[in-house]
Formats: sequence, structure tokens, C-alpha cells
Amino acid sequence: MQPDSSLAAKTFEAHKRLNELYGIQPVKGYSDPMHELIGTILSHRTTHANEVTAYRTMRERFPTWEQVRDAPLSGLIDAIQTANYPEIKAPYIQNLLTHLFQERGEANIDFLDGLSTEDAMNWLTSLPGIGLKTATILLLFKFNKPVLPVDTHVHRVTQRLGLIGPKVSAEKAHALLLAYLPQDALVLFNFHKHFYWHGQRICTWYYPKCNECVLRDMCDFYKAGGAVQLSSTPVRKKKSTA
Ligand code: SF4
Repeated sequence: MQPDSSLAAKTFEAHKRLNELYGIQPVKGYSDPMHELIGTILSHRTTHANEVTAYRTMRERFPTWEQVRDAPLSGLIDAIQTANYPEIKAPYIQNLLTHLFQERGEANIDFLDGLSTEDAMNWLTSLPGIGLKTATILLLFKFNKPVLPVDTHVHRVTQRLGLIGPKVSAEKAHALLLAYLPQDALVLFNFHKHFYWHGQRICTWYYPKCNECVLRDMCDFYKAGGAVQLSSTPVRKKKSTA
């Protein structure tokens, strides 16, 4: 199916304005692909600072990947406790490492560079605990593959603007938004980063700062009075938005 040309134009216009606001960034992730992979698992619903602490503590206590794989589960949970849901993430990490050692003989995913984007995505998402967001972050940040990670901030801002429908899930948004953009890692990295920052800084879950927003004149949510409604709603405890 052909992408909607007016939505594609709107998406690109929003991308252009955020490029001007935040500046174009070089594609950049952690230097080591395994660090990016495990770090992305740790980052789910966790602040960056807490993710970094969890990763550092884990590597200090278990310096090799074999040691992480074979660590007592309670010990690994304790090591990564600054990340939210350590009791879920620790088994994911150990299952992933077990799978990698069994299949490849080592904890090394550099071979993904030589695979097509589709094959690399399929391989990653077949692993335990690796969803679309983790796979796309890894492939874009570390291997410059043309994929688009959609986290909670990217999802919220693109939905409010009307680039995706109100019922479109973050998973479905990956492919929909990707179809509106050039298949270029630099463009996609900046789209992801800028919408992520915009969601953190301006288009926050409660009380979005619409008066400061460079996208206001093209925002469906703003035009429909959504921000005014939110500002008159008592604040509930907000979900963590890593
Ligand atoms: Fe978000 Fe308001 Fe900007 Fe729309 S105008 S994108 S709701 S901050």
C-alpha cells in the first residue's frame, strides 16, 4: 500500500523543524554492540543514568559475558537493581547470552553488520526478550541499518501531531512512520532522537508546553484542545517513560 502523501509531507515538515531546533546529530550509540544490546534491555522504563549504573555494576561484578550468563539469578538481579524490573531483565539477559553462546560460540553480534536489514531484524526478534524497539535501536545506532525505533516519546508526539492514528500501537508505528521517511540511517536516527527529546522536554505526557512548541500550527491534538483538557485534569501518577 502506498503511504498517504499528505501525511508523508507533514511528517517530513515536522522532521525538518525539529532538525532546525535540535541540530543534526551524527549516528551514535555505545561503542560495543553487545553493550548497546544489553544496555537497551536494561533501559526499558528506566532513566539513562540508572541504566548506566546497572550496566556498570553488572560488569564490575561479572566482568565476562560467561560470568553474567552463569551468575546466580539473585546476584544478577541485585547487580542491575537500579534498572526497573530487574527480576524480569536478569533472566532475559541470561537467556539471551545462553542462546548466543549456543548458536555462535561467543557473545558477539558483529556478524549482524553483514546481514540484510530484514534478516538482522528477524534474527534479533527471534531472541528471548528482544522486541521491535530493542532490535531497531541496536540496528540503527550500531549498524546504521535504516530502521526507526519508536519509543514512548516518539509514539506520543507523532500521535498527537496526527502522523499516526490514535489507536496505532508503538509496534505498528515503526513501519508506518518509516514509510514516510527516506531510508537513510542519518535521517532516521535524527528523527528518533529529536522526537524523543521533544517528548521529554516539550510534549510531555502531562502539561505539554504547547506555547513553546514549533509544531503547534500542525498539531491535531493542540487544535482539538487536548492540551487544555489535560491541563484541567488532576495529575495521576505517571508511568515511567524511559
Ligand atoms: Fe505536543 Fe503541544 Fe507540540 Fe502538539 S503543540 S506536539 S501537543 S507540545
